[in-house]
Amino acid sequence: MPSLALGVDLGGTNARAAVVDRDSGEVVAAHKEPHQDRSAEAVVAEVVGALRSAAAAARIDLQACGQVGVGVAGQCHSKAGTVLNAPNLGWRNVPLGPMLSKELGLPVRIANDLAVAAWGEKRFGAAKGLSDVILVFIGTGVGSAIISRGQLHEGAGGVAGEFGHIKVRPIRPTTAVRTCGCGMTSCLEAYTSGVNLAARVREDLQAGVRTLVRDLVQGDLSRVSAAVVDEAYSRKDPYVIGLWEEVADLMGTAIANYVTVLNPSRVVLGGGVILWCPELERLVRQVFEQQASRTALIGFDFARAHLGDDAGVIGAALLE
Ligand SMILES: [Zn+2]
Repeated sequence: MPSLALGVDLGGTNARAAVVDRDSGEVVAAHKEPHQDRSAEAVVAEVVGALRSAAAAARIDLQACGQVGVGVAGQCHSKAGTVLNAPNLGWRNVPLGPMLSKELGLPVRIANDLAVAAWGEKRFGAAKGLSDVILVFIGTGVGSAIISRGQLHEGAGGVAGEFGHIKVRPIRPTTAVRTCGCGMTSCLEAYTSGVNLAARVREDLQAGVRTLVRDLVQGDLSRVSAAVVDEAYSRKDPYVIGLWEEVADLMGTAIANYVTVLNPSRVVLGGGVILWCPELERLVRQVFEQQASRTALIGFDFARAHLGDDAGVIGAALLE
């Protein structure tokens, strides 16, 4: 009988619960529930329902697993079990851990979604066996998680690794200052996330900029994405060359600074803006190589995230 664990990936649109084999990292059974209502009470009921369905599919008793881990798309204070701020759920200071624990009759661990993804990659993915690793995620949003001495580094207030909100200055003076979803200006995420890149290219198209991107989306601006922009780069579109050089400079320099300060042995790259944009990934790595401290590069490498959407439930289930 394999040793099983329970993990939940709680996002802005749904909750996915899974039963995970502790020894192999395999997802034995999973169940996804879309949010009908984002109130904390309704979401707790959904998570409980999703866990019961996943456990039933795996033919196990929920109580037999001993603990539930939850990765939340938001800032968390793990020790208190509190979600400090989850914009996609509209939550502030929700005591999710204690609420779930009361309903389930089990101890509940919560952590940020990227922290649990990094933990999943450390246990069974691209960072397996390494003790000092950073996960950098560049997708819809931009974020990171730090594993130091084999443990998740959460910081004094539980919010370490907020990589998307470090401040940056684009190299081109013509680039306007952009406001981030967090309300501040000049955040890395405001210039480099998938959502913000698409918004920026759409604004430029509406302002009449000439670029191959317009042809690639056949004039339908809702189809603009980082992957389409990357395709235009490979066809040497001058507008995109300027944009991609700027984005790569910001991202490559930011990752280089991170590695210079923390000296990890690997950075695991995840998220569609890196994984589905080979030209941008190449440019980011070039800038990184130029900017990182020479000594921090000894024994260092990059890897691409392996576990995809399962990283969150696997990492959550195996939280210690
Ligand atoms: Zn921000």
